[in-house]
Amino acid sequence: MTEPVGALALEALGDGSGAVIADLYGRSLYWLVTPGSAADWRLPHVSMLGAKAHEVTYVGVPPAGCVRGPGVHWRVPYARDRYLTDPDRLHRALLSALTRTQVCRRCDTPTTEPVPVHVTHGASGPGHTLYACPPCAPLYSVRHQAVRSR
Ligand SMILES: [Zn+2]
Repeated sequence: MTEPVGALALEALGDGSGAVIADLYGRSLYWLVTPGSAADWRLPHVSMLGAKAHEVTYVGVPPAGCVRGPGVHWRVPYARDRYLTDPDRLHRALLSALTRTQVCRRCDTPTTEPVPVHVTHGASGPGHTLYACPPCAPLYSVRHQAVRSR
């Protein structure tokens, strides 16, 4: 899954995490679970690789001692007694990470520091708040005001 959701999930798992692979520049983190244990998960920003029988996915596996980037490396080192992650614990950690994350309206990237940029008011019932990531927030409001002033 993408940062920062993965980083938050890793934090939530703590010592409960099995080995974790980070890809180029740590943009995605990969946990290893027993085949089929995550097949029915429906989580945004999380992909269940190999969950479908007809789908083949390759994940680069770094050498055992490779724990530093920028290339593919072990974010949590592989060890004989620490390899797979318990799927229930991982699912709980991912849910908690996702509740602490909002998707930026402008760049579609999850952020842990969401800035409210717009509150929509429904005709009936409560409106909802739109968020942007910190770099996008100023750009979002400028664009929004430009549209409104037409
Ligand atoms: Zn953004």
